[in-house]
Amino acid sequence: MTDYYECGDGWIPLIEEAKTIIAKYNKKLKNEHLAGEPLEFVQIKEKWGGLCLYLNYYVPEIADQIHELEGKSLDICEQCGTNKNVKRDWTHGWIMTLCDKCREEELERFNSRFKNTKSIDENSNNN
Ligand SMILES: [Zn+2]
Repeated sequence: MTDYYECGDGWIPLIEEAKTIIAKYNKKLKNEHLAGEPLEFVQIKEKWGGLCLYLNYYVPEIADQIHELEGKSLDICEQCGTNKNVKRDWTHGWIMTLCDKCREEELERFNSRFKNTKSIDENSNNN
């Protein structure tokens, strides 16, 4: 079970919901003495502005629920978790699902990083 999320904190509630679904399924496996290894996440990441939940194997009976949670992430800010003024849009070369405020902050962070890189170049040119 991976506990490492390659995405922002805004989607943690969706991940928690997915964990509950998986735990319920694993309990059923155990209670009904069904064969098969426990279901678990192998990777949790952001891809094309959406949450991607990868499991160790495919289970038709929960696939729709997991897919629905991934779909919900497209309307939830990846950074802060709000569903107000959220857009899935290009942000400094990446598709990100963010609210207006977080997108502004993300661009500011990116631009200041860029500025720092530039000043290092300028310094090396002076030497
Ligand atoms: Zn936000």
